[in-house]
Amino acid sequence: MSTLNTAEFKARLLEQRASLLSQLAALRGGNIGRAEASAEHFARREDSPAQTTTERDLEFALDDHETTEIAAVQAALQRIENGVYGECIDCGTHIPEARLKAAPEAARCIACQEKAEKA
Ligand SMILES: [Zn+2]
Repeated sequence: MSTLNTAEFKARLLEQRASLLSQLAALRGGNIGRAEASAEHFARREDSPAQTTTERDLEFALDDHETTEIAAVQAALQRIENGVYGECIDCGTHIPEARLKAAPEAARCIACQEKAEKA
């Protein structure tokens, strides 16, 4: 069982998302609704990366740092909702709280993150 205070992480993630969305909206001409819609769309796609790579590549040909960040934040919020926040999405181990404090959107433990980045 997780003893994490997810309320605290949720508040930080929501704040992070709001700030990323406004940056993205500014970059894309001020349409925050569209930026948010595409971020949520993108986050959902993380569930089945194998089938959607081509579509995703097309849709996000202009993929930028903000969109990727928002998707990571969105996915972290979803993990809070699902009660699995703080567990590595690859191996299921508990991600150290210090790592989550530094990066609340972290989805993997450090070992799995390194593997994912090399893959
Ligand atoms: Zn792991």
